[in-house]
Amino acid sequence: MTELYKNYINGEWVEGNSVTVNINPSDTNDIIGNYTRATKAQTEEAITSAKHAFASWSRTTPQERYEILKKASDEILARKDELGRLLSREEGKTLPEGIGEATRAGQIFAFFAGEALRLNGEMVPSIRPGVGIEITREAVGVIGMITPWNFPIAIPAWKIAPALAYGNTIVFKPADLVPGCGWALVDILARAGLPKGVLNLVMGRGSEVGQTILDHKDVNAITFTGSVGTGRKVAEAAIRSMPIKKIQLEMGGKNPLIVLDDADLKIAVESAVNGAFFSTGQRCTASSRLIVSDGIHDAFVAALTDRLKGLSVDNALKAGTNIGPVVDQNQLDQDLSYIGIGQKEGARLVWGGELLNRETPGFYLQPALFTEVSNTMRIAREEIFGPVGVIIRVKDYDEALSVANDTEFGLSAGICTTSLKYASHFKRNSEAGMVMVNLPTAGVDYHVPFGGRKGSSYGSREQGTYAKEFFTIVKTAYTFAG
Ligand code: NAD
Repeated sequence: MTELYKNYINGEWVEGNSVTVNINPSDTNDIIGNYTRATKAQTEEAITSAKHAFASWSRTTPQERYEILKKASDEILARKDELGRLLSREEGKTLPEGIGEATRAGQIFAFFAGEALRLNGEMVPSIRPGVGIEITREAVGVIGMITPWNFPIAIPAWKIAPALAYGNTIVFKPADLVPGCGWALVDILARAGLPKGVLNLVMGRGSEVGQTILDHKDVNAITFTGSVGTGRKVAEAAIRSMPIKKIQLEMGGKNPLIVLDDADLKIAVESAVNGAFFSTGQRCTASSRLIVSDGIHDAFVAALTDRLKGLSVDNALKAGTNIGPVVDQNQLDQDLSYIGIGQKEGARLVWGGELLNRETPGFYLQPALFTEVSNTMRIAREEIFGPVGVIIRVKDYDEALSVANDTEFGLSAGICTTSLKYASHFKRNSEAGMVMVNLPTAGVDYHVPFGGRKGSSYGSREQGTYAKEFFTIVKTAYTFAG
């Protein structure tokens, strides 16, 4: 019988009145479980319980918060293989990628366990005699968390860990498509000793559960990762509410990876394969525009196509698979539709783009590579979110930089070059939040800030010590001591 996974509200596991059937995209006959959807009333109850829990949780000592976060980290790391397997089974990234993501979640909890102890303030002399000023940081309150399906454990971890470390309480809604990892994370934290109401899990649809969180007056802040369209709804709801909610939005990308004539060809091809196609291209930081200069263009296309031909697209759990399936039928339809659009726009499909049959029924797509793409085509401007690479040919670095920055987005950007001059110039002049030299645009460390500019992000950075900008609020206290 299929197991039923419940929501976690005010310290209790509770059933809703409908379920999400969590299906393995590598094998659609494999059902991971039924995940209860929270009702509107249950979501409101979760928010109220987070509000009540805030008074005491925000006053716990850093040591108490450290211990719970460290305990969670220890369990995640001890179970990384099993959690990674669950992740790959529900989302479709390969097992090494799934285990890597689970490991990262464990590392994030260890990092923020330490951050709970490191939060400090400032003492500043006043311009008035006898007056002292203290600048301190306090918890914000109830944080609503809304996450996407493509990093089902790392993104919840990098939102939940800092929120708890700094004394906030949480109402967390994972993506409806992949609730399994979010559920497992909440189960670990519940057993790590969190008092009731501090962390609430409400699974379900964005339009129901998500919208209830956005509209509720007792949610003080919302941290959201997902598409631009939904991000805009979050922002609109935040502005409408009184008091206006604090928000942090991480959204789409159309990340350029420049390959210059002087690049190390092997590094450039590996950066492109990893950045554009690994994790089935389903990364906000994917290298979805490959901008290649004239002199290396043909050699790069030949080497990249060869490399793609050697990749195994198969069941995410199978040893040797390089690229797993697309996450579901909707995303597959979107990918295929963009492949058709690219062909109609006049780009040349030099490899892939066709559906594949494997031993198990799943959403298998041969990674697609387009050449002769212009930066005005839709496949170069819109986020496809699949294993589709586009190559834009340019004459030199100056044109490459201008094409790289000619986008609504600004999450990550990369350059492959052996020239210090171009690498340095690009780091200064790229309009992205994260810049990579001789590395894929995807793949970041967990202890430094993550986030973009322009249409990709809104609000303060996530991760690293910068996370406190969102998860704390500053207080300035003046004292006259006579
Ligand atoms: P999505 O916007 O469809 O959904 C994201 C979350 O919002 C889900 O939990 C969904 O249920 C919820 N939601 C949907 N409608 C809602 C509403 N009306 N009110 C409240 N919540 C609602 O995005 P997705 O398809 O899950 O994820 C893919 C997108 O996420 C891509 O655009 C990708 O670039 C982006 N992404 C960005 C980053 C980043 O850090 N910049 C990281 C990963 C993914």
